[in-house]
Amino acid sequence: MLLRLCHGGVGSEKIAEQQRRLWPRTPPIRPHKSNSVATDWSTACSKPSRGSGMPAKLRRLVKSSKLLMRVAAPIFRLKSIAFAHVPMRGKFPHFSTDTRLECYAFDSMPEFERWRDANGDLIETWRCEDRAAIAPSQPAFTTDGVCAICELPVSFVSTTEYGQATSSGGVTPNWREQLLCPRCHMRNRMRAALQIAVQQCGLSRDMQIYVTEQFGEGYRWLRAHFKEVEGSEYLSPSRKPGSRRLGIVHQDVQALSYAPQSFDYILSFDVLEHVPNHIAALESFARVLKTGGKLLLTVPFTLEKYDTTVRAQMQADGHIDYILPIEVHGNPTDPVNGALCYRHFGWDTLDRLVECGFADATVMIYHDRRLGYLGSLQSLITATKA
Ligand SMILES: [Zn+2]
Repeated sequence: MLLRLCHGGVGSEKIAEQQRRLWPRTPPIRPHKSNSVATDWSTACSKPSRGSGMPAKLRRLVKSSKLLMRVAAPIFRLKSIAFAHVPMRGKFPHFSTDTRLECYAFDSMPEFERWRDANGDLIETWRCEDRAAIAPSQPAFTTDGVCAICELPVSFVSTTEYGQATSSGGVTPNWREQLLCPRCHMRNRMRAALQIAVQQCGLSRDMQIYVTEQFGEGYRWLRAHFKEVEGSEYLSPSRKPGSRRLGIVHQDVQALSYAPQSFDYILSFDVLEHVPNHIAALESFARVLKTGGKLLLTVPFTLEKYDTTVRAQMQADGHIDYILPIEVHGNPTDPVNGALCYRHFGWDTLDRLVECGFADATVMIYHDRRLGYLGSLQSLITATKA
């Protein structure tokens, strides 16, 4: 599935309404995949075209593809629901020496900057490996390596879809969302997050785990290999938190309905950028985590900025102010409208985590060509409930 897994805390109908208000004659914009953390996120998105300058033939084509998407959306949704309940079988990986991933952990921006300045050669080597992996003029290509989740040699599949144009006329793939393993069907970001959670951040099989999604391979893999895994999706603002529909649990991460100290570990993969109030979500995570429990987040993170970049802001009355051009990511619960991206996170996120009741808030960086973790510099965030 090419759509990125994003599960927001805001009703998509509200986003669509805001879009219609801004561009009354324009249908909702199509899912847009964000670029890797090393790129300038603000250039990777733009307002949707009004279409007035399009040739009639192209306009008809766009219109018919949007109609097709609307027809296909319920089918995608049913497929997501059906597969959400199918655990992904397979042996549990050892992440032994052969597939061990080296990570670099930083608890502040100055610490990262010192490391970056002292390791220019290493970072340049990574960038060379990224460039060498791109097949010139090929929209789809493979990279041979080893999937640490499957513990098997595979050919990771990438495309240049949603990549970023370079000054030389080429396209840099969105590495974060590429490098699909043909066996486990997980991409760079998800495979790395699961490996780091187990190998580096103490995720063990007897823990009570909450993951902020229920669609997708990451959740299915966790369900298959860990004893107690609770997942949820944001289904509709009218639904009661904790209620179920076809076995899918509805939760708003800003106000989780679980009892305090319910979980040992929370995993959240590219959700917080879609939540109107991410501080409320962090407080909610802290409340339902046990003392000493772990939080692992993947979010669009800008390593070069301290301040979180606010792209859109929801007011108390539900109105959304668009501060930067609208950016919408793929959303399996709403493939047509996608999920609005409210922000790209900066290093201030570590301070917010501490204010919300966490300690040891850390940004981890990784790169490993052989394991299919390309894209300089990829990151994730971890913290411990104080
Ligand atoms: Zn795999």
